[in-house]
Amino acid sequence: VLTNPLRPLLLAAAGSARLQRVVTGLPVSRAVVRRYVPGAGQDAVVDATREILASGRAISIDHLGEDTSDPAQAEATVQAYLDLLEAFGTLDAPARDGVPTLEVSLKLSALGQFLPDGGHDIALTNARRICRAAEAVGAWVNVDAEDHTTTDSTLAIVRELRADHPSVATVLQAYLRRTEEDCRSLATEGSRIRLCKGAYAEPADVAFQKGDEVDASYQRCLEILFEGEGYPMVASHDPEMIETGLALAERLGRSSDRYEFQMLYGIRDDEQRRLAAAGHTVRVYTPYGDQWYGYFMRRLAERPANLLFFARSLIGR
Ligand code: FAD
Repeated sequence: VLTNPLRPLLLAAAGSARLQRVVTGLPVSRAVVRRYVPGAGQDAVVDATREILASGRAISIDHLGEDTSDPAQAEATVQAYLDLLEAFGTLDAPARDGVPTLEVSLKLSALGQFLPDGGHDIALTNARRICRAAEAVGAWVNVDAEDHTTTDSTLAIVRELRADHPSVATVLQAYLRRTEEDCRSLATEGSRIRLCKGAYAEPADVAFQKGDEVDASYQRCLEILFEGEGYPMVASHDPEMIETGLALAERLGRSSDRYEFQMLYGIRDDEQRRLAAAGHTVRVYTPYGDQWYGYFMRRLAERPANLLFFARSLIGR
């Protein structure tokens, strides 16, 4: 929630290398992180995938990492995705009503988007390699949204990817003032758009700052996406946003293979199961890997209760 007074502090901490060393060095962090990240290795996430699929939900897997400044690191990230997609090939995970149950989510900054020499082209080439491997096993690919300085570059790369791989999805963030316009231009036939509120610290000239403004923007954007020709993905844990998605699906007569709900691994698990049992497509965004610090700090920033839980674990109560 944007009105959490500690949010700016925690989001600033998310970018601090010094704090990262301290927090990741605490033994207790690992136990708390397990709430949000099933594990560091591929085996852990493949086990989590089996469990999620067996419960009637779909999955989108993110190999943790962002802001790569090293080409070798970008290559290691691509390799991790290629290995994961190979492991997908061994899972019994048929599409449901034409909707693939398996998806990977990528961050272009982890694929080299901001490397000094030709970052744009490196990230594009790397993303293409992942898209080809995903297509071979019938999985979807989603390109995540990062901070607002990356939006133009990310949408440009997604446009290029979609020329060869039309099912590639991307994410729009309702807190950005530009997003309503982006929704209008992207709500086209075959286009898959994940709508989230937005997880980064953004300045007031580009982003709404108040929670109720973000919520209103989210609801306007969702309406544009549902009224359009694409495949909207409602990514939120907020009961009001979920209610809006359900009402739009019903009003516009969309069948459950033409939109989906998405939530994060470990958050509102009961609600995820309830929606899936009611016949909606529910996809669980599941991160894995050892680069969990930035992801974890953004989750703490969203919800003071998470922070309290972390603080209690630190003092052993
Ligand atoms: P919030 O405003 O955080 O919470 C609203 C209400 O939801 C709360 O008041 C409470 O009622 C309920 N709620 C929230 N958390 C809990 C909980 N733990 N337990 C019980 N109730 C709870 N951000 C990006 O910037 N880029 C991305 O690519 C991106 N991808 C995402 C993918 C998915 C699938 C999801 C779910 C989120 C993604 N996000 C991404 C993060 C997103 O932008 C938000 O920061 C995050 O989802 C928190 O916003 P919220 O809509 O869940 O609601």
